[in-house]
Amino acid sequence: MFEENEVILEASHVTRRFPASGGRTLVANNDINLKMYKGKTLGLVGESGCGKSTFMRFLVSLDVPTEGEILYRGKDITKLKGEELRQNRQNIQMVFQDPSASFNPKMKIRDILCEPLLNFGRIKASEKDAAAHRLLKMVELPEDFAKRYPHNMSGGQRQRVAIARALALEPEILIMDEATAALDVSVQKTIIELVAKLQREKNITIGFICHDIALVQSFSHWVAVMYLGNIVEVISGEDIAVKSVHPYTKALMGSVFDIHMDFSKPIESIESEAPSPLDTPPGCPFQSRCEHCMDICCTERPALTELEQGHSVACHLFH
Ligand code: SF4
Repeated sequence: MFEENEVILEASHVTRRFPASGGRTLVANNDINLKMYKGKTLGLVGESGCGKSTFMRFLVSLDVPTEGEILYRGKDITKLKGEELRQNRQNIQMVFQDPSASFNPKMKIRDILCEPLLNFGRIKASEKDAAAHRLLKMVELPEDFAKRYPHNMSGGQRQRVAIARALALEPEILIMDEATAALDVSVQKTIIELVAKLQREKNITIGFICHDIALVQSFSHWVAVMYLGNIVEVISGEDIAVKSVHPYTKALMGSVFDIHMDFSKPIESIESEAPSPLDTPPGCPFQSRCEHCMDICCTERPALTELEQGHSVACHLFH
């Protein structure tokens, strides 16, 4: 169901090409147009290597697109440099899949949590203990974890610390890049519940990258489905199970395991592999795996077109 919200970030015609061997070009993102709304979660779903992380890296200024612009509160963040770029990092923060890789193993949790606050002059050194305790409480961890090192914690506890550190500067947008993928399913659930609670309390906008469409659907207000660097459908999380129409989205939804499913029917799957992003065909990127492929699909790329308010699809079946 479409709900009007304040747009705080808007990506327009974002394309990222990487030069490859033999004079070829890898197109990781192809003309991406997306909006993020205040206090809402945008889920970005697709197979590994489809370009989800490439796109989200632009939002935290870890890379810049080859073409296009990304407006955050009206300012193009792809053009920021120097101190302006540094200051903007306070607004958009990221939680990575593996917190161990993003923590210095020689630093105590207190210092890991307080590093961004000290870097931006938000606290004095004498206030570190109080700040660390406040952040640990926010992610429902005991205060004495401040004295621990990352290797003395479980994966779920480390991810809570990563969330606390990302939220230390009170960013308006939080990007979670497969942030629950390495966790057990039960721990995954508690992390998602915690993030949803913090989102409600702090009105944070979240970009949630995940290859698991069932998880994305359960947590996202909006879902953008990505295939081979292209957005093929944008729909509300509430509607995706019943109203999605793109053959790729439907195949993803059809492959979701459900304990109540009818096992006498074959489980839907997408036969064959996705083409290499180095070798994308003209026309629809999904043509080689689509059972509805028509002549026009092999020559003309379908544009992302609005079917109804809040629901867009890129498929010639619906043009
Ligand atoms: Fe299938 Fe054609 Fe639609 Fe692509 S545009 S998803 S090939 S029907």
